[in-house]
Amino acid sequence: MTTLDTGVKIVRNVGRFTFGQGAVSGVKDLVASKRIDNSKHGEKYAVFLIDDYFQKESAIASSLGAMPGDAVQFVSTVDEPTTQAIDALVAELRGSGHDKPATVVGFGGGITLDTAKAVSNLLTNGGRAADYQGWDLVRVAGVHKIGVPTISGTGSEATRTCVMTNLDTGLKLGMNSDFTVFDHVVLDPNLTKSVPRDQYFFTGMDAYIHCIEALAGSYRNAIGDAYSRETVNLCRKVFLGEDMMSDELRSDLMVASYLGGCAIATSYVGVVHPFSAALSVVFGLHHCVANCIVLNAMQDFYPEAHAEFRKMIDKQKVTLPKNVCANLTDQLRTDLIAATIKHEKPLTNALGENFRATLTDARIISLFEKM
Ligand code: ZN
Repeated sequence: MTTLDTGVKIVRNVGRFTFGQGAVSGVKDLVASKRIDNSKHGEKYAVFLIDDYFQKESAIASSLGAMPGDAVQFVSTVDEPTTQAIDALVAELRGSGHDKPATVVGFGGGITLDTAKAVSNLLTNGGRAADYQGWDLVRVAGVHKIGVPTISGTGSEATRTCVMTNLDTGLKLGMNSDFTVFDHVVLDPNLTKSVPRDQYFFTGMDAYIHCIEALAGSYRNAIGDAYSRETVNLCRKVFLGEDMMSDELRSDLMVASYLGGCAIATSYVGVVHPFSAALSVVFGLHHCVANCIVLNAMQDFYPEAHAEFRKMIDKQKVTLPKNVCANLTDQLRTDLIAATIKHEKPLTNALGENFRATLTDARIISLFEKM
C-alpha cells in the first residue's frame, strides 16, 4: 500500500443544501423542525456557534431561531481551532446541560464551521478532540448539524474534516470522517457582502489553491477533477472580474467554495498547503493568508497558477503581507522544516514518495525566505 492509498475512496457529500439570496431566513424553520424531531427521544434545545465577528449584531442569534434555553456561543477567530479550545467548549456545553441538543448550528467562517463539526462529533462520541485527529476514528454519528458559511473559500461547508491544532503536540489534523459532514448547509451569498476585501480575496483563493494543487497531483479521481476544474473556472471569473464582490461574483464564489470542498474530499493538496501549515504552526498566520503568501513564492512548482495569482491580486488591488520569514533563527528554521515535511500525503501527491530529494532542507528554507 502506498502513502496515497488511504482515505479518499469513499465519499460522502452534504446531506441537503439550500442555496440562494435570502436563504439564511430558512435556518429558523430548519431548527424548529429539528426541535420537533428530537423531542421524541431527546431535548428540544439547540446549540448556536456563531463567529465572533457577529457579536456586535445583537439580534443575530434570534434571527437564526435561537430561543430561551438554547446555548449561544461566540467562537473566537483570533486563532484557528485548537483541540484544547474545542474540549473547553464541549465541557462548557456539558456543564450547562446542553449536551444532547436537537441541532448544532455553525454560522461563520471556516473556523466556526470546523468548530461546529468537532463539537457535534464530541457530544455523541465522548472523549477529547485529540482522540479523533486522523482518519475514520469517529465511531458514531454526531449531533445533527447545520452549516451556514458567511465567507467563501475554505470549503469547510462541504468537507468531511474539521482542521484543529493540538497545542501540546503541534499536530494540525482534522477529524476526517463521514460523520463530520454537515447534515444541512445553507448557502446565502448575501452573507458575504460585508466581508473585508482582503480577507474575501485570501479566503476565496483557498478554493483556487486546493484545486490547482489537486489537478497537478499524481493521485487523481475523475469526479474530484471535474469539481476542481469548475472551481478553478469560477475563481478565475471572480478574481479576474471587474469587482470580485459584485452580487453575481459573490454568488459564484460561494458555489466555487462549495465545489472546492467537494473536490478536496476526493483528492489531496500539493506543495502549497504543507508550507502554509508550517507558517500557521510556527508563526500563527491564518490558513488562507498563509496560502497566498506561499503561492506567491511557488513560481518553480506552480508557474501557471503563480502567474495567474499575480494577475488576480493586482487586478483586485489586494496587499499581501511581506517578509514574514525575515530574521529566521536556527530554531525557527528547524521548526519550519519539520512542520512542512510532516505532511507526507500532499507532498507525495505533488512530488512523489521521494519528495525529500526535491525538498532538501536548504531548498525549503530558501522558499520560506522568499515569503
Ligand atoms: Zn486550504
